[in-house]
Amino acid sequence: MPAYFWLRSQSTPLTLDIVSAMDDEEARLFLAEMRWGKGRQICPDCGVVDQHHTIRTRKQWRCKHCGRTFSVTTGTPFADHKIGYRKLLMAIFSFAINQKGLAALTLRRIIGGQYRTSFTLLQKIREALMLSVSTEKLSGVIEIDGGHFSGKKRKGRKKKKATPADKTQVPDKYSQHRTKTRASAFPFHPNRRIVIVMREMLGEKGKGAGRTVTAICRSENGADIESLVQSWVRKSSTIRSDELPAYGNLKLMGYLHDVVNHSEEFSTDEGINQNQAESFFSRMRRSCIGIYHRITPKYMLDYSCEMAWREDYRKADTQEQVKSLLRRVCSSGISIDWVNYCRGNKRKAELLFQASTS
Ligand SMILES: [Zn+2]
Repeated sequence: MPAYFWLRSQSTPLTLDIVSAMDDEEARLFLAEMRWGKGRQICPDCGVVDQHHTIRTRKQWRCKHCGRTFSVTTGTPFADHKIGYRKLLMAIFSFAINQKGLAALTLRRIIGGQYRTSFTLLQKIREALMLSVSTEKLSGVIEIDGGHFSGKKRKGRKKKKATPADKTQVPDKYSQHRTKTRASAFPFHPNRRIVIVMREMLGEKGKGAGRTVTAICRSENGADIESLVQSWVRKSSTIRSDELPAYGNLKLMGYLHDVVNHSEEFSTDEGINQNQAESFFSRMRRSCIGIYHRITPKYMLDYSCEMAWREDYRKADTQEQVKSLLRRVCSSGISIDWVNYCRGNKRKAELLFQASTS
């Protein structure tokens, strides 16, 4: 029987039983250890790493150097949280272990409380994952591809009855007219967006993909792709893409460009393929179909960054996933769009990593 990577871990896995059996104080200390490491804290003001003074009654620390008082959630999206540390930890843990995403209604069933509490908590985590994306450029072999999400055209309710004249005509699905209509109407659907994914191959370091970067565009056009590649990929890297004309100028820009023609094959004889990019889309599509059902363009970047994080940590054990999630979330600072969400603070416009020219 093959030893799958998720069965290889030797340590005792962190489970929901262990997390839910903790009391509030244990959960707080566990969160602190996951965030800063054992027996030390980092002051959010001066950044000094030390064993700071503990204020037990207030569940806080006071910095030995600048005197700032802080808690484990100071300077994070969870600052001023009203739910206890145990429920907060359960929410973070549940988010980390669900491979295809976590619905707010499901989280509500786990931690209790109101729907909007679970909803804003999850959105804060997603926003933090989006804000804390590393700006380091990708290098080596990079697979790039675009996937269409959201804004599906609804099918009509009534089926048109066939008239005797129709029976003599070429059916709609084979006619040129239908192809033309679909091609021209497709990119202009108001809610249609393209998720562009760039995945760095591990190469000698291991199998599959390492880091994943995502962006949202209005269409898969040359100007957007070129600008995106320029800002995220180091020169002289090898880029693998499909045969779309939007990727046509990459060689002229100083990149090595391998193409796989999807109308003929999915992997060339030399092994050039985009399977890791497709793997990302597979996860994102399943989260759309099975968990979220609908992702609006306004928050699509948040969801795509969530899926990128899930892809990057797919082989890590639960403890490592929780630790990495906490570090990412805590390093993103206080939430911008989800503080006072229930009192009217909302994101004004959709976020695109790329200012689309089309
Ligand atoms: Zn300090």
